[in-house]
Amino acid sequence: MSTLVRAEEILVYDADVDPSCEAIVVQCSDPRLQRAFREFTATELGLGAGDFMPLVVSGGASVLAHPQRLPKEFKFMRDRLEFYRAMMPSLRRVVLITHEGCRYSRALKKRVVGARDAPREETGHEDLKVVGAALASTLARLELTPELYYARFIGPGGARVSFERVV
Ligand SMILES: [Zn+2]
Repeated sequence: MSTLVRAEEILVYDADVDPSCEAIVVQCSDPRLQRAFREFTATELGLGAGDFMPLVVSGGASVLAHPQRLPKEFKFMRDRLEFYRAMMPSLRRVVLITHEGCRYSRALKKRVVGARDAPREETGHEDLKVVGAALASTLARLELTPELYYARFIGPGGARVSFERVV
């Protein structure tokens, strides 16, 4: 019995050699939405593989909605935007996505305002306006244009997803 794997049995995959990305896409890691995010990014944003850098974190852009109360979350994201911008001069756009029923965002709000005062209503849509304002000066400095989207579950059982542009 051998655990050695012969070279010809190793699978190999295509890499994008020297990609020139135009966008960073900030999205939640919620597994219910990964397929929709991928299709939305290709179809509505016009970004194929190698055209964008995904920044997938629990809560997506919602983690940026509390720069005063959660400065570490805000700094985590801002540092990465700055880093990506420095390493990829072709970047022009930052797509910031929040979504309906975001469990991490809800948990974050409980931490910020306390469980008793946490909003019962969905706030991902409103979060985006706060995020846009909070990031405005950073993005202007980095010469990046923000695009804000709210992902909403549609139909019975939430089997479909639509994306609404928020201005
Ligand atoms: Zn989420």
